[in-house]
Amino acid sequence: MTERIFLSSPHMSGNEKSYIDYAFDSNWIAPLGPNVDGFEKEIAAYAQVEDAAATSSGTAAIHLALELLEVGKEDTVFCSTLTFIASANPILYTGATPVFIDSEESTWNMSPVALEKALKDAEQKGKLPKVVIIVHLYGQSAMLDELMAICDRFGVPIVEDAAESLGSYYKGQPSGSFGKYGIFSFNGNKIITTSGGGMLISNDVQGLKRARFLATQARDQAVHYQHSVVGYNYRLSNILAGVGRAQLEVLDERVLARRAVFNRYVETLGGIDGLDFMPELEGTYGNRWLTTLTLDPEKISVTPGEIIEALAEENIEARPVWKPLHLQPLFEGNDFYAHSDDEIVSEKLFERGLCLPSGSNMTEEQQSRVISKIQQCLGVTNSASVTK
Ligand SMILES: *Cc1c(COP(=O)(O)O)cnc(C)c1O
Repeated sequence: MTERIFLSSPHMSGNEKSYIDYAFDSNWIAPLGPNVDGFEKEIAAYAQVEDAAATSSGTAAIHLALELLEVGKEDTVFCSTLTFIASANPILYTGATPVFIDSEESTWNMSPVALEKALKDAEQKGKLPKVVIIVHLYGQSAMLDELMAICDRFGVPIVEDAAESLGSYYKGQPSGSFGKYGIFSFNGNKIITTSGGGMLISNDVQGLKRARFLATQARDQAVHYQHSVVGYNYRLSNILAGVGRAQLEVLDERVLARRAVFNRYVETLGGIDGLDFMPELEGTYGNRWLTTLTLDPEKISVTPGEIIEALAEENIEARPVWKPLHLQPLFEGNDFYAHSDDEIVSEKLFERGLCLPSGSNMTEEQQSRVISKIQQCLGVTNSASVTK
């Protein structure tokens, strides 16, 4: 069998071990220590925010953000529907009820139209959501100006799920730094990784101080172990933070590599009628974490599922676009607001979407294998493919 090509695999810089050695040499083998402190400062500087708190996962960081915003049982939280389940699971941890918001075509992210409709409805019912969670899917920025203006108007804070968009920019400002809180993930398949880990970022230094308190079992100031509120064990290991510090040093290179992977797909497949790549919103710079595209069934008879299968036979990993959360059995019965009356954009993207192998460590030869197989599936030969 030929060598496996992954969707997105860890890509070490080579400097990770020196930070791990630093942890061992100082015996900080704990969810605390100089690598954690350093990683937090470095991420805060990168994202241009006042402070950052390292967590055991991106999911934990979202949960802490919701706790800081005092989300509870009686509350609702609005969330992008086209995303990974981890965006919404923390809503359930708090006991609150999620309401899902459709995507719009130009970013695949939260539709300002659907959001406004949902907020107006909520206001009429006398129950605005406690938080709006905005996701930047596959590294693409959502329409932040529009979304923030709407949330401001209704006085609802934003949590930015930037798990997939570390290294992306919206109008020159780092992704994740727009909301009251932002979160990153360093899971194994993300653009940089600590094998597992996350970060909560904000300009609210007091809020992050409380996040660190909640993330370490909420222990009160007392010599004996005293606790007045529910806490969690959500801090990042000092060893893993070391991996993160070395990874962050090469983040910008990783973004360039992923964008080059994307450009190569566009050059070789972009001329095919009915095949469209995820656009990049004007004024934004995406990390192109995953190259994603759609196939128009009216122009292309091959389905994304068939391409995924054909690639799997060649030991190549590809995936559908995230299944919208409002279609998940877990959220049956939860409210959902569509972008328009006659079209649900997220469902269309799910039916037509395809994510291609996009690792920053993928070789050109590996990428050529992916491209030829797709060209073969679509019945275009190498020579016939448009290479502009
Ligand atoms: C990966 C991811 C998360 C969760 O991060 P973990 O570190 O795996 O907990 C949250 N939201 C989105 C959109 C993600 O892709």
